[in-house]
Amino acid sequence: MNTPTPAHCAVIGHPIAHSLSPQIHHAFAHSLGLNVHYERILSEIPDFERTVQDFFARGGHGLNVTVPFKERAFALAAHSSPRARLAGAVNTLWMAEGQLHGCNTDGEGLVYDLKRLHADPKGQRILIIGAGGATRGVLIPLLEAGAQTLKIINRTPARATQIAEELSTQQPQFAPRLAVGSLQDTQGQWDIVINATSASLGTAGLQHGAIDYAPNALAYDMVYGAQPTPFMQHAQAQGAQRVADGLGMLVEQAASSFAIWFGQRPGTTTVRQQLRAQL
Ligand code: NAP
Repeated sequence: MNTPTPAHCAVIGHPIAHSLSPQIHHAFAHSLGLNVHYERILSEIPDFERTVQDFFARGGHGLNVTVPFKERAFALAAHSSPRARLAGAVNTLWMAEGQLHGCNTDGEGLVYDLKRLHADPKGQRILIIGAGGATRGVLIPLLEAGAQTLKIINRTPARATQIAEELSTQQPQFAPRLAVGSLQDTQGQWDIVINATSASLGTAGLQHGAIDYAPNALAYDMVYGAQPTPFMQHAQAQGAQRVADGLGMLVEQAASSFAIWFGQRPGTTTVRQQLRAQL
């Protein structure tokens, strides 16, 4: 359905010039025949809350939030999903019945991308490296998707423990499937290994214990680039039969935001291929 006045969406951050979101969302809208205008909003650090309120007061339809405002967006939202509460961060805002709602679509985006890669989390043994915001955002969706075991290992193990405790309090049914440890606690065999750290692999960066990849296992790096990332290269050398970077997650989390705002989930193949070609 095409409307005469475009639905106004945007991504807000600081910095923001690099954001691929306008390109992604315009492609989604075009593919579905929707009239959407999506822009970048550079907010000064102290102005975030006022800028968001102005955006919706002027009739804004949906807002993505990126660094460094995701936590403040969570605080601002009157209603947020359990996954957003665990993350303490939201990347998607919208108004419903006069109230600001927030969700974190990173985890749903990751699950969609894993399924695309024929690595459905259901029944899988998953090792996540990192215990920052990205890990917080994906835990509930991975467990809801049926992960058999989910172990979080981190340079600072206390942060992994903290997340597991919060999740076990919030959703006790997940506690039996959760484990935590240090970067060396990689014992066991793994079907899916996810790098959710911001560190590059190497002597000065990420150093984890040896990983026993199950047959046909997938090593997934949330980071993406023109070339296979150092984590992907290292995983292949350690025996991972399949590797992938996080470009697909980026596109799928955007598709999940779009679905919240417009009630339709767009196809992602064409956009992902376009972005891949541009890297
Ligand atoms: P964050 O909150 O800053 O957390 C960083 C994580 O990296 C922490 O677990 C930290 O460990 C670890 N780390 C940093 N330097 C390290 C080192 N030298 N050795 C070992 N561990 C190290 O960051 P985040 O928001 O979780 O993001 C993590 C990554 O995911 C980023 O690269 C981000 O771009 C990516 N990401 C991608 C997508 C996507 O759509 N593809 C979405 C979200 C995030 P400590 O706790 O010990 O400090």
